[in-house]
Amino acid sequence: MSGLSLCDDTAKLGLETVQTRVSASDGSGPLLGNTTDFSSPYTPEQQAEDDAHARSEMFVLKCYRVRAHGRSELNRVKSKHRVGWCGQRVGFNVRGVALYRRPDRATGRLGNLCVCGQSLVCAVCSPRVAMRPANEVREAAEKWLMSGGALAHITLTAPHKKGSPLADEVEWWSQIWTKAFINGKASVALRAQRAGYVNGFEATWSELNGWHVHRHLLFFHRHGLDVEAHRRRWLSQLGERWSPAAEQRAFSCEPVVLGTLAMYCSKIGAEIAMGSTKESNTPLSMLAAAAETGAACPQWLEAVATVAKRKISVLRWSRGLKSVFGLDEETEAEAEEKDIDAAKEEVTPSDELLGALSPWQWRAIWSRKLEHELLREIQAGTEAVELWLQINDLGRLWMDAEHYEEFLSSPEDNTEPAALTVPPSVPVQTTLNGIKG
Ligand SMILES: [Zn+2]
Repeated sequence: MSGLSLCDDTAKLGLETVQTRVSASDGSGPLLGNTTDFSSPYTPEQQAEDDAHARSEMFVLKCYRVRAHGRSELNRVKSKHRVGWCGQRVGFNVRGVALYRRPDRATGRLGNLCVCGQSLVCAVCSPRVAMRPANEVREAAEKWLMSGGALAHITLTAPHKKGSPLADEVEWWSQIWTKAFINGKASVALRAQRAGYVNGFEATWSELNGWHVHRHLLFFHRHGLDVEAHRRRWLSQLGERWSPAAEQRAFSCEPVVLGTLAMYCSKIGAEIAMGSTKESNTPLSMLAAAAETGAACPQWLEAVATVAKRKISVLRWSRGLKSVFGLDEETEAEAEEKDIDAAKEEVTPSDELLGALSPWQWRAIWSRKLEHELLREIQAGTEAVELWLQINDLGRLWMDAEHYEEFLSSPEDNTEPAALTVPPSVPVQTTLNGIKG
């Protein structure tokens, strides 16, 4: 669940909330973020449309193209962040990249590749990771409401400075968040009203306003919520950023009821899944726009650096809340591991192994940003893949399915392949080199 998603969920469910943008350029007030459309409901038809789009070949291939562009951007600035090797690095002790045709999916599958699991800035992992927290939240929230609890969606925003680096905005938020919701007598008193919350993060950017960070909280509360006290507490922490505009717009709180919950949470997943294609200035949508022309995307690079340094994820649960629902509490490291698991491609019984590429063939493919083309050809079968390899001067399949399975089952071959060290400029081999027997 991204903060953005929560914000838009509320909007499209028709819940009353606040307009969050005041432009400083017209002298009417401080920067409070982007205008959000809060008028149209999110219908089952729209949800079905979004789900179908998220599974479509066009969307999936676009995600791969966008990730490839991001990878080249990170290479350009010599970043070491794991997003830079997502879908590129071959798994340890595994030789080659397996190619699977998938009759039940829009595109093929590439086996043995590592993923980053980053839920905010990776074009491929983000949609996959999104479903895990969205489903968990829905199930927990349903239980909570059925057992007599109540839910509220609180949106926090604050005036911000144009030109302020994202890292500075995040640091400011971190400090004020702790003061407003964690520490202090008033916070402790307010804390008694709730069992916990899920905390969504959103960052958007615009030419006019620069970076804008939101927090979206789904509050699980017991016997009513002192909304006014929460509002005062938040506003009291804004300090020098306080203004009359902030007074009106920096805090909103809306109830979430059973009738709107399922759609609310579905929208959470869908919004994230669409994050790299929709018309909004999230880091991923900006990277997607840059990928169209091959342009640099400094905002996305800045977002990658910030989420890496601060270990920001799209959504986290407050401590103790998961145990209320019999779910395992997760440390930050465990949550990251789960995100990585969720980002791995689903393996289905109908997956059909076509064969494998050697590590150096794979290197030539990702360095030329051709993964999305390969994924499309895999669905057309072995002959199509062979033809595509020849057209791109990449030789032939390294191994067919039969030889590859035999190869993997041979224990003496379980060593790191020397081919990993061969630079991409080396001519592509076209035989089944490396196969024993
Ligand atoms: Zn990734």
